[in-house]
Amino acid sequence: MKENYECIKSQITDRTKIIAVTKYHTVEETLEAYEAGIRDFGENRTEGFLEKRKALPDDANLHYIGTLQSRKVKHIIDDLYYLHSLDRESIAKKIEQYSDHIVKCFIQVNVSGEESKHGLTPDQVPDFLERLSTYSKVEIIGLMTMAPATDDATLIAEVFDRMAQLRETLQQSNSDNLNISELSMGMSNDYQIAAEKGATYVRIGSKIMESR
Ligand SMILES: *Cc1c(COP(=O)(O)O)cnc(C)c1O
Repeated sequence: MKENYECIKSQITDRTKIIAVTKYHTVEETLEAYEAGIRDFGENRTEGFLEKRKALPDDANLHYIGTLQSRKVKHIIDDLYYLHSLDRESIAKKIEQYSDHIVKCFIQVNVSGEESKHGLTPDQVPDFLERLSTYSKVEIIGLMTMAPATDDATLIAEVFDRMAQLRETLQQSNSDNLNISELSMGMSNDYQIAAEKGATYVRIGSKIMESR
């Protein structure tokens, strides 16, 4: 695991932080990743999220990266500091209702337009941001996307490029002092492309957690 992590780190620059996605892995394996020096972890189910949070030391950050049902927000809110999948106002409402701290959120954007993917279309983002500006516990720090399911590196690069452009546009047009500086994109198969295109977080599961 340490080797995997060191290898990935050597391929990207410091501006890109690595989140180890531990969703298919045990608490023991997750702690091993911590020992390897990883401090950011990603989970996509509330049970796994709570289980890993309990096991990991306090200086580890836990990121909720999957679709979150609004009725489940209250179950994890005490430990929820990073949410990568905000795409509905109903979730913001629950955060506002139950949280005693600020939750840093990424708006999930479906750039590729695939039906199977969650997220807003790029056009919907400005209006969504406007609506979220009234929520004091929801701080939008960036955008998140999933690359299309393809091996075509050019196509993937295009999607990540559009994310970077969207961030640029939002930063220039923002009137509410928003600081949308983070880009969460890139997984095991495309993290290098994502890092080149400006990802500030890559979310890597198998490439870190599985032995080669
Ligand atoms: C599982 C998952 C990942 C990591 O996937 P790998 O291909 O194993 O790197 C990243 N992001 C999200 C949202 C995931 O659900």
